[in-house]
Amino acid sequence: MIDTSFKITKTENSKISELDFNNIPFGRAFSDHMFVADYKDGQWGDMRIEPFGNFSIHPANIAWHYGQSVFEGMKATKAIDGTPMLFRPEQHSIRINKSAERLCMPAFPEDTFLEAVYELVKLDQDWIPKDEGSALYLRPYMIAMDEFIGVQVAKTYKFIIFCCPVGPYYSNAVKLKADDKFIRAAEGGTGEAKAAGNYAGSLYPAKLAKEEGFDQIMWLDAKDHKKIQEVGTMNIFFVINDTIITPPTSGTILKGITRDSALQIFEANGYKVDIRDLTIDEVMAAGKDGSLQEVFGTGTAAVVANVKEIGYKGDSITLNPDNYKVSPFLKDTINGLRSTRIEDTYGWTVRVV
Ligand SMILES: *Cc1c(COP(=O)(O)O)cnc(C)c1O
Repeated sequence: MIDTSFKITKTENSKISELDFNNIPFGRAFSDHMFVADYKDGQWGDMRIEPFGNFSIHPANIAWHYGQSVFEGMKATKAIDGTPMLFRPEQHSIRINKSAERLCMPAFPEDTFLEAVYELVKLDQDWIPKDEGSALYLRPYMIAMDEFIGVQVAKTYKFIIFCCPVGPYYSNAVKLKADDKFIRAAEGGTGEAKAAGNYAGSLYPAKLAKEEGFDQIMWLDAKDHKKIQEVGTMNIFFVINDTIITPPTSGTILKGITRDSALQIFEANGYKVDIRDLTIDEVMAAGKDGSLQEVFGTGTAAVVANVKEIGYKGDSITLNPDNYKVSPFLKDTINGLRSTRIEDTYGWTVRVV
């Protein structure tokens, strides 16, 4: 049993009756409670779970100006017997601390992170939609709180976790633009951190791509604009000649927990996997000679998003996601593990009881 060292204040007016579980707006519905902790004088304190609500923030809040802000995205699901389930929660704790380190922010203690997630999910478990593929999306994040205009490492921070119920997130197959001008991440940059600024910088190129009729961007390396990094805000996988290929996460690629789970699932099920760099030229050529079988993205929100077309410098290749085999197998396995339909032989799931 996990012991809590923080105060829990329950809401007196739950908003759950206002939610239509058959029609949940993604990212716009919020559960009754949130976890909050404050950092000052070199340590985390005032940890509490309290009713979900607004903060009052000073206009000179340093995070708003200079972007010391990191986040996570994870999901709680329901087992077939109704027990709330977490999936590899410790990996999210480890990763937010790596992101925080890159932005000179303090680490948040892993045991407290796990306790907070556990107690919050236990308290708001009625907010977890039951259907497989739907979930309670958890958003842990940390922001700097100094009231000071000047570029420097802040001395005060807030750590927050709130929850959004989300329906079975179905992602239509997407049309990608392999961008030969704009980049997401360069070697030595912050691409490996889940840092707010990375997403701000991706909006403009994504807007231009949408104006050209694409759904998302396939990010290429900053130097030669050739090596494939990611798709939108997901890691990317290719199946070429029955081999699953994904680029190594060597600094510019976000280390997706879904990516890591996928690699372990593929290995355990006898798929041929090759972790290596590949270029957009190789993929375009494989698309033309028929050896490119699948392209898909992986991430916590959608699990997988299939790719149906890739455009590059006016040229394009098309794929047929209806014939995909690897990507549906992965989605079914991860959703099945999360719902306990598939037995967890990996030790990834945590029951919240
Ligand atoms: C969060 C994220 C991913 C996916 O990570 P998961 O842990 O699988 O959710 C991939 N790329 C980027 C840029 C991300 O922000």
